[in-house]
Amino acid sequence: MKRALFPGSFDPLTLGHYDIIKRGVTLFDEIVVAIGVNASKKYMFSLEERKKFIEDAFADEPKVKVVTYKGLTVDFCKDIGVKFILRGLRNPADFEFEKAIAHTNRDLAPIETVFLLTAAKTSYIASSIVRDVIRHNGDYTKLVPKSVRLK
Ligand code: ADP
Repeated sequence: MKRALFPGSFDPLTLGHYDIIKRGVTLFDEIVVAIGVNASKKYMFSLEERKKFIEDAFADEPKVKVVTYKGLTVDFCKDIGVKFILRGLRNPADFEFEKAIAHTNRDLAPIETVFLLTAAKTSYIASSIVRDVIRHNGDYTKLVPKSVRLK
């Protein structure tokens, strides 16, 4: 079974992430959406909220699993026996950043990173922008799946 890990903070899940996961499902038998836990990082949404947003968005998609992890992504891949990492690319800045991470990961473990180019209509969306819109009471609902709502 071909499985891929889609790692990130998902603070919160956006339509950009959603698009990559949906398309990932057509390439792999299972997509493990992995929320990285970094104790030194401040998040807008709790781990439970972030996990629920993703689980609810893919409630009808049995090929998508949501997990949380600590530590190096490649170590987690080894722990759960996943051989591919899935990442999304929006622009040249993403490419440079992702290239360094992918090369480092390849040095650390025999795990391939597979990149999907963002859909044109979601290419400008970033969780950081969504958080800014939320902080300033803007209409964030156009940028995120329906499962992502403020309480
Ligand atoms: P991180 O916290 O590691 O920056 P994110 O949670 O923002 O990661 O994103 C996880 C993955 O989703 C990354 O591969 C990132 O490039 C991708 N991604 C984020 N936003 C988009 C988007 N709008 N279109 C495509 N991919 C995206």
